[in-house]
Amino acid sequence: MVRTLVHWTKSLSFPTRISINKNSRENVNTVSPAVTPTVSSNSLYPSCLKNKEINMSHSNLLIMDVEQIYPDPDSEKSIMKSVVYCIHNKEGCKWSDELRKLKAHLNTCKHDAKPCTSNCGAQIPRVLMEDHLKYTCPHRRARCEFCTKDFTGESLENHIGNCGHEPVYCENKCGLKVQRRILSQHKTSDCFKRLVACRYCKKDFIADTMAAHHIKCGSVPVGCPNRCETTNLTREDMELHLKEECTISVLSCSFKEAGCRFKGPRFSIDKHLEESSSQHLSLVCNLVNKQQHQIASLKSALSRLSLNYSGTLIWKVSDFSAKMSEAKTKEGMELVSPPFYTSQYGYKLQASLFPNGNGAGENSHISIYIKILPGEYDALLRWPFAHSVSFTLFDQSMCPEKACNIMESFIPDPTWKNFQRPSIEPDSLGFGFPRFVSHDILKKRNFVRDDTLFIRVKVDPSKIIAV
Ligand SMILES: [Zn+2]
Ligand SMILES: [Zn+2]
Ligand SMILES: [Zn+2]
Ligand SMILES: [Zn+2]
Ligand SMILES: [Zn+2]
Ligand SMILES: [Zn+2]
Ligand SMILES: [Zn+2]
Repeated sequence: MVRTLVHWTKSLSFPTRISINKNSRENVNTVSPAVTPTVSSNSLYPSCLKNKEINMSHSNLLIMDVEQIYPDPDSEKSIMKSVVYCIHNKEGCKWSDELRKLKAHLNTCKHDAKPCTSNCGAQIPRVLMEDHLKYTCPHRRARCEFCTKDFTGESLENHIGNCGHEPVYCENKCGLKVQRRILSQHKTSDCFKRLVACRYCKKDFIADTMAAHHIKCGSVPVGCPNRCETTNLTREDMELHLKEECTISVLSCSFKEAGCRFKGPRFSIDKHLEESSSQHLSLVCNLVNKQQHQIASLKSALSRLSLNYSGTLIWKVSDFSAKMSEAKTKEGMELVSPPFYTSQYGYKLQASLFPNGNGAGENSHISIYIKILPGEYDALLRWPFAHSVSFTLFDQSMCPEKACNIMESFIPDPTWKNFQRPSIEPDSLGFGFPRFVSHDILKKRNFVRDDTLFIRVKVDPSKIIAV
């Protein structure tokens, strides 16, 4: 009886009547049997009670005996007739009836907790008991689905995750599930994602790529495709072997570029070279001749590319002092300019300079002349040549406004032989000024600077006098 009341006191609150108004019948009577239960069992109390009365110590209540609590049989009776909800109303029990029937209800209420029937010590609501006994009670009997051994619930929990018979995924990600007890053996000897060393090059590869690796592994031994006698060759040595060692490799004669078409095994090449030396020599001679023609035509193509077609030549004569002293000891020493054209399809001309003079200027002046060379388009041009020609020696003064250049020019006379169409053989005759600049004047001003002089030769097509 006491135990049951203790149980009630978990959620019922009657004690105020006892502690505060123990002997007042009026107050007790104010509790109507028809008191309406509140929704919450925790707040179930007569509506006339004050909040402060409810807060009475719980432990005080527990030690009171029933007679002390309900000294008045009449009021007890009427209270017992109060309609209340089950204390497990919140958990979902819909039971509601007179208070006196509550105890009997709790004996069957499926939400009321009772000790685990397997004596694990847990208090389990009746409604959850079956699940508890089956799945969570540490005292339950359970069987490991993998090794089929029996365990208590508690030891099964430790066993799961360690059972040797449980299939688990291989950590190498091969996709296979293997029993835990043979997993390490699988990973070292069966798993096709394990690392294995190539037995030729000793490097590590994933097992299922080994076959592909062996196809290209440079350390794999291979036989010479020429079936020569050499053995123990690896794949990476083969290229060198075929190129430089294999006696059966077919090679071309080393005079192949000169035109020899001989091909034979390496061992026969030396013999061929010995036997064919005169044939090889004549092949090489032919090749040299051919190449010399090629060089000559390349040279002329190159000089055409660098030709000047503007009609004006700026001729730079460097190392002038050396040339002058050479000219003084060597009679008739002549310097010639690069050839130039008066226009793209015009006359081909060349200037010539005698540092120590020529004719009337010999030993005292520098002489300068213009020569007409046989050109590509002479057949289409008008003859005799009739453009005016001017020669200018530049004064290389530091201030250009003070520079004083020397210029001489002439207009060809149509009767002069030198200005007829030149023959195919270059003509040494020219026309110009034997006393262009005297050696004395040349030493003045800045006509020679840094041992260099600049001469401009300009052909002016606008000043044509001949038809
Ligand atoms: Zn209930
Ligand atoms: Zn249990
Ligand atoms: Zn097991
Ligand atoms: Zn594996
Ligand atoms: Zn290898
Ligand atoms: Zn070979
Ligand atoms: Zn040959």
